[in-house]
Amino acid sequence: MDYAEIDKRHCWHPFTQQEAWTARDYEPLMIVGGEGVWLEDDGGNRYIDGNSSIWTNVHGHNHPVMNEAIAEQLGRIAHSSFLGFSHPLAAELAARLVAFFPGTDLQRVFYSDDGSTAIECALKMALQYRLQNGEAERTEFVAFLGGYHGDTLGAASLGGVEAFFGRFRKFGLRVHFVSDLAELRSLPSLDKVAGVVIEPLIQGVNEMHVWPEGMLRELRAFTEGESIHLILDEVMTGFGRTGEMFACHREGVVPDFLCLAKGLTGGYLPMAATLVTESIYEGFLGGADRAFYYGHSYTANPLGCAAALASLDLFESEKTLAGVREKAVYLDYELSDLMGENGYVRVTRRCGLVAAVEIDSDEVGLGARVCERARRYQLLTRPIGNTVVLMPPLSITRDEIGMMVAAVDQAIRDVLD
Ligand SMILES: *Cc1c(COP(=O)(O)O)cnc(C)c1O
Repeated sequence: MDYAEIDKRHCWHPFTQQEAWTARDYEPLMIVGGEGVWLEDDGGNRYIDGNSSIWTNVHGHNHPVMNEAIAEQLGRIAHSSFLGFSHPLAAELAARLVAFFPGTDLQRVFYSDDGSTAIECALKMALQYRLQNGEAERTEFVAFLGGYHGDTLGAASLGGVEAFFGRFRKFGLRVHFVSDLAELRSLPSLDKVAGVVIEPLIQGVNEMHVWPEGMLRELRAFTEGESIHLILDEVMTGFGRTGEMFACHREGVVPDFLCLAKGLTGGYLPMAATLVTESIYEGFLGGADRAFYYGHSYTANPLGCAAALASLDLFESEKTLAGVREKAVYLDYELSDLMGENGYVRVTRRCGLVAAVEIDSDEVGLGARVCERARRYQLLTRPIGNTVVLMPPLSITRDEIGMMVAAVDQAIRDVLD
């Protein structure tokens, strides 16, 4: 069966110009297997998963502990409703998640399906909280230019990437975009703002823009002073990518809302969680009309919970965070070698095991050509503009980091020499 042909006839891919995808001479890569940081295509070729299958995978593919946890739950039940019922794994997972914030007010967990819904949930909670607690005038949000928070309509209205979101902006929420704290401070009507949304430490889609040290702490102090809720989007930064379990730990910040998804299940199943403070939660107590009217069919899916719990176990048994910190230093060596020797690299950025290699050219489509070429050197990743993203599973070894950077080096030379 020619699956590529069938795909071209019937599938529609995200963020993709289908005319190019379905062109006669374009051959889509069919991934049929994975093991550790390696992906395998239908021709038996192996590649390093250089962007963790779009920023999701944590401990590697086909990990026996992950597989077993999911299989064990599957032997009991695949899905039951969290509307009107509960199940043990959802309760345990909630307790384990809030245990990363001991002694704080961030103790309540609302489950959903993916990064976008984790954000939607925070936005609707933030709005409903104000509506029913005497602050109905606080209906606006602040987001940062270059930010990315997902593609559902509410989340998209927070998106600060013009090319993706500009056309939809007039249909969404009222959002003020700022580029930094100074601009936020000088907004005229802060008393109408319900919440500020930010990707802490590093903006992923914004070519891995790293915020200045201390910025998050200052933002927390400012939002507290203005009674504005701080919504942290840790959909990408969560679960160890930055070398901390959560990026906000780096600056000792506890938000009002913490949105988690991608790495929550180790990248095995779609699932999300919005952590929220008890004080916000209490604003929903009282009559039936004060309940939070929001939910999805697969909320707290038991298979997802099993995967998430197994992933948290692996963080402990495999000492994942210590490994990330150690490997990040090594990745730095590799990146500075690349910077010094390649000649076509404008700058590299790194935060934990998240890195960006910006090619020194403004020629459109170069990043895509480099990533395409890197396949030849057994690396799969995607560019953002002319920036090559390197965000491997946290289980990557030093040798594999070396291979990954060498592949980028060679691919850039091939395309630009
Ligand atoms: C990927 C991402 C999202 C959206 O998550 P989906 O699971 O794709 O809906 C939101 N915020 C950030 C920072 C992300 O990286």
